[in-house]
Amino acid sequence: MAIGSAPEVAMSAAISATKLLINNEWVESSSGKTFPTINPATEEVICHVSEADADDVDRAVRAAREAFERGPWRKAPASERGRLLHRLADLIENHADELARLESLDNGKPYSVARAADVPKAAACYRYFAGWADKVQGRTIPIKGDYFCYTRLEPVGVVGQIIPWNFPLIMQAWKLAPALATGNTVVMKPAEQTPLTALRIGELIVEAGFPPGVVNLLPGYGPAAGAAIARHMDVDKIAFTGSTAVGHLIMEAAAQSNLKRVTLELGGKSPNIIFADADFDQAIEGAHMALFYNQGQSCSAGSRTFVEERAYDEFVERSAARARRRRVGDPFDPATEQGPQVDQEQYQKVMRYIGSGKSEGARLMCGGNRVGERGWFIEPTVFADVKDDMAIAREEIFGPVMSIIKFRDLEEVVDRANRTEYGLAAAVWTRDIGKAYSIANNVRAGTVWVNCYNAFDPAAPFGGFKQSGMGRELGEYGLQQYTESKTVTVKL
Ligand code: ADP
Ligand code: MG
Repeated sequence: MAIGSAPEVAMSAAISATKLLINNEWVESSSGKTFPTINPATEEVICHVSEADADDVDRAVRAAREAFERGPWRKAPASERGRLLHRLADLIENHADELARLESLDNGKPYSVARAADVPKAAACYRYFAGWADKVQGRTIPIKGDYFCYTRLEPVGVVGQIIPWNFPLIMQAWKLAPALATGNTVVMKPAEQTPLTALRIGELIVEAGFPPGVVNLLPGYGPAAGAAIARHMDVDKIAFTGSTAVGHLIMEAAAQSNLKRVTLELGGKSPNIIFADADFDQAIEGAHMALFYNQGQSCSAGSRTFVEERAYDEFVERSAARARRRRVGDPFDPATEQGPQVDQEQYQKVMRYIGSGKSEGARLMCGGNRVGERGWFIEPTVFADVKDDMAIAREEIFGPVMSIIKFRDLEEVVDRANRTEYGLAAAVWTRDIGKAYSIANNVRAGTVWVNCYNAFDPAAPFGGFKQSGMGRELGEYGLQQYTESKTVTVKL
């Protein structure tokens, strides 16, 4: 493995946006502070970025409030919001190579994946919600008496949005697109690990022609800028994606400030259930990708791989063989399947879980070690004979560590699949349609995939049961979270 073997590709990611975007202007933070963003493949500083804190949040919220109450945004026809979102999608497509390079540099994901998936999926999300902009309609309601009653779906107002580092471009799109389609204004904090593509998108937002104050971007840290958004008295709604622990803090801050609306997309420990009658080639590759995609850093990762007893030994052998073949290395090498974990903190957390898997008696089939000495690379790791009560079977690892668990029958596996505080996603692999529907109906999760995994679409809602979150993103349900319903009653 040669990290940085393709420097010409990486170096050509010219970095133009490193400040705060407030009111369509690029400004320093009021404290003058900056923070470094690191290339996780080399541990080198890519550049320094302005660090927002509570003062900057105040400035940005004022700009967003002004834009919401008095700017041209409010008066623009709904179709104009759709047109601007389409323009943004066009600009993203025109800058696809550059954005993919920047995403790979800052996050560590393979460039080929960023180019084939992250960038086009972000653009597709803006397009999907662009189409909704002029199709958000209220109802007329036949109430008793001599009245005309109707509802209007109005924007919620100034929306705070806090996003994570695992899919920076896509998470930004999932949040911005529905908020803007419905006429809100936004104060967004990208993750401190990965601010660069969010800021580059900020430049494209200005270029597309969005009015000042509609989108404000505040790179910075969670406990400072993030917490200031969550407790701000003039923020009408907060949308958060990240850890369940911080999700609790966000709700607490909303409760203690102004009861701002809260939507949360949090952690998961999703069961991926493989029956012996499944198409095994598909199930093995599907389970591999369900876990290892994005270096294992997906909230929806299939991180409890339940395998039916009859097929267990074969599945374990073949899954370990597949993991051993997984190519770890330079994110800019086209053959690379897996890059580094996003930072040292995540690297150390994953290594602790690998240690805990070993000490709790799970059978290590492959991996378990760091790769190289520079960059936060971890070997694809597979544990077999994992028991439900082990930490690696209960807690979110967020890394390339597969836990294979044996089960006997349908009823038992449903019960065990549901014994978790999470409920984000689940999947089942089988040729038996009865088993497939039984899992789909009885596992308590916001998404169930049958004979596939991570099949996302901007039109298909996504979100969690239980402590995996509140509300949904994407689709028409995602749109609804960005409107308030107003009832108007007219005496005739
Ligand atoms: P992870 O542990 O995977 O980094 P986090 O939930 O800590 O996940 O981070 C997700 C996002 O939440 C990031 O943008 C981070 O800066 C932000 N964040 C972290 N702590 C807080 C907090 N106390 N209040 C608001 N936002 C926070
Ligand atoms: Mg954190």
